[in-house]
Amino acid sequence: MDKVDILGVQIDNLSPQEVLEQVNHFLHSNDQHYLVTPNPEFIVATNQDHEFKEILNYADIAVADGVGLIKIAKLLGQRLQRVTGVDLVWLISELAEQQNCSVYLLGAAETVAAQTATVLKENLPNLIVAGAESGGDITDPKEIDHELIERINDSQAAILFVALGQIKQEKWIFYHLDQLPNIKVAVGIGGAFDYISGNVLRAPKILRNLGLEWLFRLILQPQRYKRIFTATVIFPWLVLIDQIKKRVAPNR
Ligand code: UDP
Repeated sequence: MDKVDILGVQIDNLSPQEVLEQVNHFLHSNDQHYLVTPNPEFIVATNQDHEFKEILNYADIAVADGVGLIKIAKLLGQRLQRVTGVDLVWLISELAEQQNCSVYLLGAAETVAAQTATVLKENLPNLIVAGAESGGDITDPKEIDHELIERINDSQAAILFVALGQIKQEKWIFYHLDQLPNIKVAVGIGGAFDYISGNVLRAPKILRNLGLEWLFRLILQPQRYKRIFTATVIFPWLVLIDQIKKRVAPNR
């Protein structure tokens, strides 16, 4: 697969259709797989958190969720296509409906996963949503909640969407996937349930295409200013420093 290295994180240059083909293959394989959706904040976080970097690089598929990654890849002379968490939930749910595979929705605030299930079922009437829940208060992603694991296993779901917030959701998947033997594909999807359920307004397509989603979010959710600063200022700064270092000492 065509991968782009951004500050040591390997991102796949895949179209939504190519991701779906891979997921379809995963659903028919005997192994378990997981997908991650890095954005610039993920990459900045890996600078301090090497475990997180390894978990991202260990994923079967890592797609770019964030215009910042696409723009930086372009500046580095490479190509990345954007596939967001919301895109993955819709595309994989459509595939699940066709393949008769059930999905489990885990994460987001109380009732948001259930509202998301309702919206998915309205659009994909034959989709089997085997479970939808916030997951309770998950603070440490390494800690096992035996009842939660049992609920997911009892549901017989084959696909697990995890929306526990970046870093936590990827670690949770990494540390728990082997205790969920029926799950063939787990996907970290960030705030996707908030958007699909309609609890948070998504930026209009024109702003997303212009790379101005951050501005829309800043106006709607000013409390996110630190994250927006990380994505729009710290991330490009770290890439610039890395490029300078590579030019000064190319064999480092
Ligand atoms: N979330 C959660 N538990 C937590 C932290 C976050 O369920 O401990 C959920 C939150 O309710 C929201 C999503 O995770 O639905 C946000 O994830 P992230 O910040 O990665 O989303 P982004 O907005 O960057 O896509």
